[in-house]
Amino acid sequence: MNASEVTPISNALTIDVEDYFQVSAFAHQISRDTWDSLPCRIEANVGNILDLLAESGVHATFFTLGWIAERYPALIRRIVEEGHELASHGYDHYRATEQPYGAFLADIRLAKAVLEDLAQEPVKGYRAPSFSVGPANEWAFDCIAEAGYRYSSSLYPIRHDHYGAPDAPRFAHEVRPGLVEVPVATVRVMSANWPAGGGGYFRLLPYNVSRWSLRRVNDVDRQPAMFYFHPWELDPAQPRIPGISFKTRFRHYLNLGRTTPRLRRLLADFRWDRVDRIFLTGSAV
Ligand SMILES: [Zn+2]
Repeated sequence: MNASEVTPISNALTIDVEDYFQVSAFAHQISRDTWDSLPCRIEANVGNILDLLAESGVHATFFTLGWIAERYPALIRRIVEEGHELASHGYDHYRATEQPYGAFLADIRLAKAVLEDLAQEPVKGYRAPSFSVGPANEWAFDCIAEAGYRYSSSLYPIRHDHYGAPDAPRFAHEVRPGLVEVPVATVRVMSANWPAGGGGYFRLLPYNVSRWSLRRVNDVDRQPAMFYFHPWELDPAQPRIPGISFKTRFRHYLNLGRTTPRLRRLLADFRWDRVDRIFLTGSAV
């Protein structure tokens, strides 16, 4: 296949709308009580992403924290007005593994209500913070279905020290009646799953690795890929968090200045759309 040829499968482009101080890897350094006192960069960063998507004519899905939505209603309305899908990332970024059943259910219900109030339309999708659903807490899918979501994107079927469900199915599958799970894209090489759907890997590895992996999902597996990134990954000027380990520093800050040009290439090299239009087809979206 010619390198410049656009593959005909539409892939899901997703953004986890949380600020640089809300990432799980900083949870020990930054308590939730201090979030309101930290300089917020989400408005500018999501604004840049929306400009980039408008330039490319791409629509995406924004998995948004209720905490952010309450503080930046104009930003949420802009996401919806520009034709993107608003979806839920929970209220304030507790991992599903950190909460018992009742608290988790309350969190994802609250986030859905806050987002729907602003969007004035149903919120169909949910993504657990840090892909924190796996074999040990599959009850989370009961909650996600009970809260009224239609799809989840909470599994990353790889081995990773903070998350991952390496034995989970790699592609969209029904996990509860009426609830589809759409795992982040992986590529199967040497009997193992390797990350293909973004996160730190998109910044750490050369762009061509991401492109090769996503092409393989489209051309060999013949499946749409689920790809994700965070607004802070496009922001080299974000405040540095003191007291973090070398590994966390490396993962969080490496190649931040390269994300925007890489995303431009990614948007041009593949076809992209909102999650609901790709994975909820055949039913009323
Ligand atoms: Zn997150």
